[in-house]
Amino acid sequence: MGTTILEVQELKKSFGGISAVSGVSFDVRDGEILGIIGPNGCGKSTLFNCILGQLRPTAGRVFLDNQDVTGLRPSELNRRGVSRTFQLLQVFPQLSVHENLILAGQEHKGTMVSRLFGSRDVGLTAEANRMIAFFRLQHLADEKASGLSYGQQKLLDAAMAFMAGPRLVLLDEPAGGVNLTMLSHLEERLRAINAEQGATFVVIEHNMDFVMRLCTRVVVLAEGQKIAEGTPAEVRANPTVIEAYLGH
Ligand code: ADP
Ligand code: MG
Repeated sequence: MGTTILEVQELKKSFGGISAVSGVSFDVRDGEILGIIGPNGCGKSTLFNCILGQLRPTAGRVFLDNQDVTGLRPSELNRRGVSRTFQLLQVFPQLSVHENLILAGQEHKGTMVSRLFGSRDVGLTAEANRMIAFFRLQHLADEKASGLSYGQQKLLDAAMAFMAGPRLVLLDEPAGGVNLTMLSHLEERLRAINAEQGATFVVIEHNMDFVMRLCTRVVVLAEGQKIAEGTPAEVRANPTVIEAYLGH
């Protein structure tokens, strides 16, 4: 496995007196697909929010390529090649699939968003078209996002995260609420983008089978702490993990 891209050290986040993340450490290696699993409310999304600068961690540090990026703004992390999806859809319903992708590309590059309707970035237009072809959304390119099925919107949401060639993408429940056909399409495309473009990603997901098939390594959280880490097979056989899941 490759060198370490991202290193999370003893990350903590409290809301008021309540500890959501209680000292979690892990690293992400170049080219891997790392899974993060754990029961509802165990701090997975909060962890992403702290890594990407949506929230400031209460304690702990985040390193990107050995540089301390703790507390940097999301836009600054975007510029450094890190992007994400949110648990809830972030597509713009009134914009077309193509326009949504361009907007995401502009955001990741830190370009003025207002340019969308003015002079177009030729590079981004071409990239949006490539992304549309890659995720097999050609027939929907000019549809408003609001006209897409939920699964198609989740696919678009994931595609948006890959605009502007990020090195590291954090996906928060990309398969949540997606039907089986769309799920296998998404899984297959994520695998392809990892293999063909060398994109590294971290996937939070509830669907255990999806994680086990897709990920090379898995980190397991429970109640704000890391309780296990290993290959999918190791994690699945870990008694602590089984107990954390069955206990809920
Ligand atoms: P997960 O993504 O694993 O389901 P979250 O990270 O969303 O869990 O939440 C972890 C805990 O932190 C939960 O108890 C949740 O209620 C709490 N929490 C998350 N965000 C906030 C917030 N902005 N304010 C207060 N509590 C929050
Ligand atoms: Mg969550």
